[in-house]
Amino acid sequence: MKEKGLSSCTQRVQEAQRIAVLTGAGISTESGIPDFRSPSGLWRNPEVQAAITRDTFFIRPQHFYRYFKELFLEWREVSPNTGHLALSKLEQMGKVVGIATQNIDGLHQSAGSSQVIELHGHLRTATCPKCKAKESMETVKALLKRSELPKCSCGTILKPDVVLFGDPLDMDDWKAAQAWMMKADVVLCVGTSLTVTPANSLILRRRSDSTLIIINKEPTMYDHLADFIFHGMAGTLLPKLIG
Ligand code: NAD
Repeated sequence: MKEKGLSSCTQRVQEAQRIAVLTGAGISTESGIPDFRSPSGLWRNPEVQAAITRDTFFIRPQHFYRYFKELFLEWREVSPNTGHLALSKLEQMGKVVGIATQNIDGLHQSAGSSQVIELHGHLRTATCPKCKAKESMETVKALLKRSELPKCSCGTILKPDVVLFGDPLDMDDWKAAQAWMMKADVVLCVGTSLTVTPANSLILRRRSDSTLIIINKEPTMYDHLADFIFHGMAGTLLPKLIG
């Protein structure tokens, strides 16, 4: 039987020496940021999916930025929720080896977690694909607000430091995230549909004697691998699990 209940899972977390965490967009929905694949998620419009890609950025930058701005640059002030805060408490308890997140919202760091790998990048800066100069996302936003495409001083359109579909992951980050998974005796996977490769394969890199806990509102394709599965809200379940 996979679901052994919250109390035995809580006990397993208390006994754990090293916990590696993988999070996805679902941990931030309770902060008001929509995920991609829930029925109300951002991916319900196929045009959006096609727009937020590496190819679209280079071929149709105007089109790319129209959707990128709408999706990711117009979030109102967002704050970490009880799920992010519970995970940061795990770090204070000295149990977390690290949080590998697919999110670009920076909310784990806002919640106080310091061991965070942002597998898919972040929204703090943009980089010039040609001369590699960096610019703040605030500047990018200001230019977009004036209906200008954000350009570097060398004249090239700036690319957000987000991993788009078609972009490779940062290899150092990827290796470090795999090392965390291999070190952990508990792997905690929260708020991800586990459909995006290669991030979803991280949970396959864990030690064979480790415990896998999955918390997600809906079933995932890797539920059969989990020792504990909870189909519910991260913001409610994580504080119960971590105490
Ligand atoms: P996803 O949309 O594919 O899956 C999110 C999962 O979270 C869904 O299965 C959903 O059922 C579950 N979920 C939603 N709310 C939840 C809650 N409160 N508690 C528990 N589970 C909940 O997202 P993904 O797997 O992270 O992959 C999508 C990609 O989307 C990532 O690469 C990420 O970069 C990007 N993205 C990031 C953000 C963000 O930074 N917050 C937002 C949207 C998309």
